[in-house]
Amino acid sequence: MRIARFTTGGDPRYAMVDGPAGSEELVVLTGDPIYMPVQPTGERVPLARDDVRLLAPVIPRSKIIGVGRNYAEHAAEMGNEVPQAPLLFLKPNTSVIGPDDPITLPAWTQEVHHEAELAVVIGKVAKNVSPERALDQVFGFTVANDVTARDAQRTDGQWARAKGFDSSCPLGPWVVPGLDVDDLAVLARVNGDLRQDGRTSQLIFDVAHLVSYISEAFTLLPGDVILTGTPAGVGPVVHGDVVEVEVEEIGVLRNPVLRRD
Ligand code: ZN
Repeated sequence: MRIARFTTGGDPRYAMVDGPAGSEELVVLTGDPIYMPVQPTGERVPLARDDVRLLAPVIPRSKIIGVGRNYAEHAAEMGNEVPQAPLLFLKPNTSVIGPDDPITLPAWTQEVHHEAELAVVIGKVAKNVSPERALDQVFGFTVANDVTARDAQRTDGQWARAKGFDSSCPLGPWVVPGLDVDDLAVLARVNGDLRQDGRTSQLIFDVAHLVSYISEAFTLLPGDVILTGTPAGVGPVVHGDVVEVEVEEIGVLRNPVLRRD
């Protein structure tokens, strides 16, 4: 099952995505499945219809938790050691954009990188959960681009600005509940050229470990999102690029890159 959030010009609505790539239909739902039981309304909307636009499948109510250096080859390419415990940071919910929304480069950075990541969407309130119970707290999985102003990350010390600016968290195209994420390809392409080609089996700390560890610091709320880290191959994006992040069995998240100044 795939859960999308979309608009046809009015308020956002939710839908199950039905059908093969290229001819998907949105089976419209009565509410937000992360927060309430839902049913189909009976309406079906072709995804390709001109007035249909997919939105970020979730807007976190409280937080996005990022995990740094969770793939050994990425830690090495940045000149870092592999951490002994997950290295956590926060992104605000104002950083979230949806499929095809532009990543807008701030004037204060000259070095913005893509980071392809598997994202976890929390479904239940979770505090101090064991790794064994952690996946019970998960609503589903989506695709994220943990867009990072690498120059500001180096100079600021804290990563809030470098990883939290507006449009630095593309999410989508939809959420897939119940997915086995132990060994999925995580890819990034810029203008069609493959830049990142990792697998979730290379995660230093897996999803169950991350949810458990994070819940020992923060109460996780339904709709919170965890970014699980990026494989090797990060690199710059500039005005006019199109960056695609893909996670196997979820889908492709595509965003153009804009500089307005
Ligand atoms: Zn990242």
